[in-house]
Amino acid sequence: MWRINNFLLMIVLAGLAAFGGYRAVQHILPDGAPKETATPEAEESQAPRDPAVMDTGRPMSPGLLAYEVEHYTLRHEILPETKSIAGSATIEFTALSGMDTLELDFDGVFSVSKVEGPGGALDFTKSPSKLFVTLGETLNAGETVAVSVHYSGKPWIADRAPWDGGFVWAETPSGKPWVATAIQGEGCDLWWPCKDHPTAEPKRGLEFFITVPAGLSAAGNGVLQNIIDLEDGRRTFHWKTALPTNVYGAALNVGPYVRLTGEYQSVNGSTVPLEFWAIEDHEEDAQALFDKEFPEALASLEARFGPYPWGQEKMGVAETPHLGMEHQTINAYGNEFRRGRYGYDNLFYHELAHEWFGNIMSVGNIADMWLHEGTATYADFAHTREVMGDAAFLTQKYTRYLGIKSCQPIAPPRQLSGDQTFDEKTGPEGDMYAKGAWVLYSLGFVMGEDKVERALRRLIYDTAEPHALTAPITPRQRTTDDFLAIINDEAGADMSWFFDVYVRSAPLPELNAEIDGDDLVLSWNTFSDADFPMPAPVRIDGELRRIEMPGGAARIEGGATAEVMIDPMMEILRKLPSVPTCAERKAEDAARD
Ligand SMILES: [Zn+2]
Repeated sequence: MWRINNFLLMIVLAGLAAFGGYRAVQHILPDGAPKETATPEAEESQAPRDPAVMDTGRPMSPGLLAYEVEHYTLRHEILPETKSIAGSATIEFTALSGMDTLELDFDGVFSVSKVEGPGGALDFTKSPSKLFVTLGETLNAGETVAVSVHYSGKPWIADRAPWDGGFVWAETPSGKPWVATAIQGEGCDLWWPCKDHPTAEPKRGLEFFITVPAGLSAAGNGVLQNIIDLEDGRRTFHWKTALPTNVYGAALNVGPYVRLTGEYQSVNGSTVPLEFWAIEDHEEDAQALFDKEFPEALASLEARFGPYPWGQEKMGVAETPHLGMEHQTINAYGNEFRRGRYGYDNLFYHELAHEWFGNIMSVGNIADMWLHEGTATYADFAHTREVMGDAAFLTQKYTRYLGIKSCQPIAPPRQLSGDQTFDEKTGPEGDMYAKGAWVLYSLGFVMGEDKVERALRRLIYDTAEPHALTAPITPRQRTTDDFLAIINDEAGADMSWFFDVYVRSAPLPELNAEIDGDDLVLSWNTFSDADFPMPAPVRIDGELRRIEMPGGAARIEGGATAEVMIDPMMEILRKLPSVPTCAERKAEDAARD
């Protein structure tokens, strides 16, 4: 709608969102052309929700810490005409300490008709953001119980999925209902009573019984068990995943889908089922993407990082009205089959990369989310180099460099909720993508890209040689400090100095160059007194050299009269005049507003 480049569009959208009182959340790659998914429905007045409902990953109460989730079963009828859902959620959990009340995060807007335990109906109380179930007995640590909550209501409609998420009630081009969920920033409690925290993945996965109107299908996580025909042409789709799943990685997708199926031979020798649930209007385009990019993207990611992690279930994609999201084994794809500017569909590739970075390897503290997004962006850059060569790769890297904000560290060393992570006053926001990828490439300059990629494989699989691993592949939750420890091991040196400046601090370091007699003197300014022995590539009279900078400085003899170009290929991350500081960017934004 604005004829400006995508980067500026993102800035404008984020600015508008902040100005309008919406949370400015940039959850997926800004390289993909953002599209407005705010439908007229989203402008209907919705009862405001409790801030805790609209956030995820907040510090957990003693009540939430008293148990861990084993499994969820969701049984829902989807009612597009009234934009509502009705059904139940069964929560199977194990007490970690004595407990007589089950505390669940849950949007208070839903009407709860009854709650049942093994012995029958249970008493419950609600608040705007919680459901408290009186268990009628005291559970001991280690006891496992299942509780079912029956409820109905109108779930929160996304303002601007996937950035400001919720339910998306859209229509296909031919006017049929097209429904999706995108709840990364808000969490599962917008949809079902749950433990809304990234550490609370259901250990044995989820099961879905999704009932949809005649003519529609439901695509979900895991494996389709069966389709149950009901009266009036309605059908219930029974999906099941036995895998631990991010609570935001569970997804509902309903539409007039065609189901494209195939197989992929994984690098580990196994056969991976492929499924693409595309809307019937787009079958031809979907088949082309399915035939070409599904196997190519899988081969690229497997070669670089290791076997597709969930081959025992499927590699799946559902076409959605919103741009995309890393829903485990059923990635959301809404890029409308655009011609990729780097020779492939960036959005499809980025979301698929999250099966490695975000799903099998995930973070328990949202402040560490650059381990999902910086890594996926790195994978994307790397694929551009594979497909299109260096010119496109450098163009992509430089374009994304121009959007780095440097207002907060990419991994602030504290616990952050989703809202805090995506607020530039408290968290890395969009920098977790591009700056995260740039940090990995800069690290590659110091210690070698091969070693960085070995470290990334160890982060995912705990081994640098994962290619023969077969299902089940162990999911892991990781921290930035875990990654630093692996990097130190691969580098054979303590790389804390690198992480302190590039990962744990906000401003980009500056590389100063001064003439001193016949010499050129290089020195780093990191806005701290800590040692920063970051080497720099420098072309001197046509010869590209790596200048070591112990103590953060180096003298190039005769450099005053030589033809010198510092870092001609932009291999290391530093402040250049082409990007503003955080303060300058804020002043420029204010002047523009
Ligand atoms: Zn992403």
